Amino acid sequence: MAAIEMRNIVKEYGDGFKAVNDVSIDIADGEFMILVGPSGCGKSTLLRMIVGLEDITGGDMLIGGNRVNEKAPRDRNLSMVFQNYALYPHLSVFENIAFPLRLKRGIPEEEVRQRVEEAAATLELTEHLQRKPANLSGGQRQRVAMGRAIVRQADAFLFDEPLSNLDAKLRGQMRTEISRMQRRMGTTTVYVTHDQTEAMTLGDRVAVLRKGVLQQVASPRELYEQPVNLFVAGFIGSPPMNFLPAVVEGARLRLPFFELDLSDDLAARVEGKELLLAGVRPEYFEDARLVDPTKRDAGHTFRARVDVTEWLGDSQYAYLPFDAPDEIAQQLSELARELDSEALRTQAVASIDSMSRVRENSEV
Ligand code: ATP
Repeated sequence: MAAIEMRNIVKEYGDGFKAVNDVSIDIADGEFMILVGPSGCGKSTLLRMIVGLEDITGGDMLIGGNRVNEKAPRDRNLSMVFQNYALYPHLSVFENIAFPLRLKRGIPEEEVRQRVEEAAATLELTEHLQRKPANLSGGQRQRVAMGRAIVRQADAFLFDEPLSNLDAKLRGQMRTEISRMQRRMGTTTVYVTHDQTEAMTLGDRVAVLRKGVLQQVASPRELYEQPVNLFVAGFIGSPPMNFLPAVVEGARLRLPFFELDLSDDLAARVEGKELLLAGVRPEYFEDARLVDPTKRDAGHTFRARVDVTEWLGDSQYAYLPFDAPDEIAQQLSELARELDSEALRTQAVASIDSMSRVRENSEV
């Protein structure tokens, strides 16, 4: 097993475009690290540089303390699982899993059999060992690809969006399996995804990238509760954080639906500003009818027009349209485009108790 250290890593393509720009991340031995960000942010490129499939333009890549910039992929002892599984259709499940061992040569047949059977048992593939990939479900194929990765006893596992071809239910199952497998084996893992749930549930830590630049590396909880900037705040969380235009009037903040007295601390921080964006997570809203009456009396409620509601069983979303001043609308438009979330420009979403059955023009 091995720690992976990226020091000021740069990837420049021919035209001078930096797909990865001065990224430094330390991944501890045995750690599960997620690389996440919108399409094109450079996460796959970074992963491919770790494994050696992409040349490194600048910086140092260290695996187990050794610089590997010029090492060929086969000399890095890493296992990569791809999105499209990359299985050999003419080989059985057994032979697909055994493939990396056969490449090494010199491993006795008995040991190959034993290691393949162990990997198959871990991944519940034992009864399918003689089948061909064509006769497997998507989830089973994905497990074969994982079997091929774990059989090698590599120093680290690298996953490039391994679940994106599976349907939602299977993705959930496989997510749990990957998490369990990684804990049991304790192998350093780097996992690229753009899926919120995978990012938040699988990793010990998450690295958020934007246009090739690292924004924040932190535990999922820290990212959620203490994002370092608007981009991370808007990217982490589903539905995303609402950004509401807020007019500063001394120690008072005027938002689309309500006004707020600021604490001394906050008032000091916004001093000198006239207009800002206030981040409000959807779950911070409640239906006023269900709120503790003492809170209601303390001025914690407001009236918002509910445009549309979506009922999800355990909760429901209420969409609350608002108008933003031009200056803020412009800023919101840019953020919305980058986060691929058009809706956040013109409406807030409140995630509230499914029991409340909010209707239009009600209070939340
Ligand atoms: P996705 O989630 O869509 O796979 P990503 O975050 O993994 O995106 P990369 O595939 O790492 O992004 O690509 C990062 C940037 O580098 C993109 O803008 C992409 O167009 C560019 N890029 C990737 N490969 C090349 C290449 N061979 N030549 C030039 N530009 C490239």
